[in-house]
Amino acid sequence: MKPCRLCGALADFSLVAIAIENGENILVRCSACGSLMTARQAPAAQVQTLYDALYTAGAYQDYRKAHASALTGRRPVTSYQRHLFHRVRKHLPGRRAAEIGGGVGVFGQSVVRAGFTYRNFDVSVEAAGLAERLGLSSVVFPAGEVPPLEQGSVDVVVMWEVLEHVWNAAEILRVVHTALAPGGCLLMSTPNLHRHGYLESLSTAGVSSPPIHINFFSHASLAVCLRAAGFGRLRFYHRKIEYPKFQPGDMLLTAGIVAGWVPEKTLYCAAWKE
Ligand SMILES: [Zn+2]
Repeated sequence: MKPCRLCGALADFSLVAIAIENGENILVRCSACGSLMTARQAPAAQVQTLYDALYTAGAYQDYRKAHASALTGRRPVTSYQRHLFHRVRKHLPGRRAAEIGGGVGVFGQSVVRAGFTYRNFDVSVEAAGLAERLGLSSVVFPAGEVPPLEQGSVDVVVMWEVLEHVWNAAEILRVVHTALAPGGCLLMSTPNLHRHGYLESLSTAGVSSPPIHINFFSHASLAVCLRAAGFGRLRFYHRKIEYPKFQPGDMLLTAGIVAGWVPEKTLYCAAWKE
């Protein structure tokens, strides 16, 4: 038994039969939380270079486009993330926000517009530089470490699509819990392990495969990890309507997600500190 890097509990780890790296099985399942994760850590310097490259020339180009548009003062189209933020904001004890993995700062800009103070914590120097050009305070911290958040310093922490990327997820969740004021909230999302075709796709290199996505949560396993970090009330937001591509297969899947017989693509959760 050894501590799980996602839930922190002492657990056994069983090998999952999906070939990932050089055709080898490197995915394991934790007996305590049931999450899947890679068993091997890529060197921090390699991870940092990889993310900087994604922002500079790679698959995160869409974020750069959104950033270029934000620089012109144009407001981005309403997103589900902003919708959820507005749902939780009236229940928060104050207006101090932090974002982990805030990237180029497009979401941060909408948080500032909503009247919150905002700090972005990211491992990418490239992304943090772009966020600062939008006038947002950005702190770069090394991959594999925890963001330097002081105890009780924030009322809401936002982590969109971050938990699947970080090696030390349990540690980060505990730091976030400590950083929140009583009554504060962590608002987060991560891909659903059970989303259609996800596991099968991991053996092909891509932005959703290791070493970029290294953790895989189900609704139940994410709840275990959040509770282990100290969070009390959890609210999952189900059945977000994804916009289908107008192809018969995709429209059928979307109908299934809305009806509840196909697992949602993304887990959205508000975790409250009591
Ligand atoms: Zn675990």
